[in-house]
Amino acid sequence: MEKELKIGIIGCGAIGRDHCRRIMQTVPGATVVAVADYVAAAADDTAARFGIRSFGNDCDGLIKDPEVEAVMITSIDATHHDYVMKVLAQEKWCFCEKPLSQNAADCEEIIARELQIGKRLVQVGFMRRYDRGYAEMKRIIQSGELGAPLLIKACHRNVSQGPGFKTENGITNVAIHELDICRWLLDDEYEDAQAVRVRQSANSTKGYDNPQVVLLRTKKGCFIDVEVQVADGYGYDIQCEVVCENGTVKLPDPYAVVRRSRPQGWDSLNPAESMPIMTDWKERFIEAYDIEMCRWVESVHQGKLTGPSAWDGYVACVAGDALNASRGTSRFLPVATIEKPALYK
Ligand code: NAP
Repeated sequence: MEKELKIGIIGCGAIGRDHCRRIMQTVPGATVVAVADYVAAAADDTAARFGIRSFGNDCDGLIKDPEVEAVMITSIDATHHDYVMKVLAQEKWCFCEKPLSQNAADCEEIIARELQIGKRLVQVGFMRRYDRGYAEMKRIIQSGELGAPLLIKACHRNVSQGPGFKTENGITNVAIHELDICRWLLDDEYEDAQAVRVRQSANSTKGYDNPQVVLLRTKKGCFIDVEVQVADGYGYDIQCEVVCENGTVKLPDPYAVVRRSRPQGWDSLNPAESMPIMTDWKERFIEAYDIEMCRWVESVHQGKLTGPSAWDGYVACVAGDALNASRGTSRFLPVATIEKPALYK
């Protein structure tokens, strides 16, 4: 029996607790030994629930603890860069929830540190790559059966955001998933990008743009259009369609069951066809998170990470920076990365 990977988690909010449960209950070959959070009580509660050690708010202590072999960062976006750098200072494995950082410059520091170490230690939580729908879309596109991909039409509709959310976070926190999955699906890189402010929803009066539209052009000439609704939508609804020369591929809806009935409470006599739409990201991508985590643990055991890298986290942030800088300019701005180091090829 393989020795269990001992993981410490920083950030005991929604996804931190969910990943803790996942590792403890469904991921073979790993266990969570400790948790920490900015708010000590959040760490204490999670630790008590799983019978593990709480470092309270001593996140640095958790990173340095000799029992902790790998650190999972599930605290808020603004904290990711600093914690990743601290984990790399200990030369430990690091799973960082998306985004890797809030800008490209911070990601470059992470890349520089990994290059100094000479080994990939960081994986970024772009779990959509493990979703069966996206994986099948990629398989079909890669097979070449449909000819070259030409366009992507995508949308990311969300229900709500926490306090302090800003227009830029519609890119750095929300559309960051699309910034990763589109280049992964197309096996292509971005040339330039533009964020467009469109007519605003009357439901959205919280001071940030909602919706906004993200436009990207790739090096091979594909055009990508992503509608980003960060709040006040009817549900958590993720759509993606890739238009190729000889056909299209479309992300399936998570529920396959279609109901045909006379909806309760309707005055009308007309029956209708309906399908539930989820409201919760944890549920929508539950299988993808499980697979992501199992593969991460397996690859750590094999001593070689295979999932989304610090480079992937960086490219998404470069595109994000270009999008945020373009807002209000009516111009596409270049998505200019540094040269890709051999470590990530
Ligand atoms: P959340 O519920 O707000 O949890 C974040 C936790 O981190 C909170 O307990 C928060 O404490 C704590 N925290 C804040 N500052 C900290 C610091 N300096 N050090 C340590 N802990 C700190 O948010 P969430 O939804 O779990 O999201 C956490 C991260 O995961 C975010 O970066 C988010 O973008 C990412 N995420 C990824 C996905 C995905 O699909 N891959 C889905 C959801 C979230 P307070 O409550 O006191 O601030």
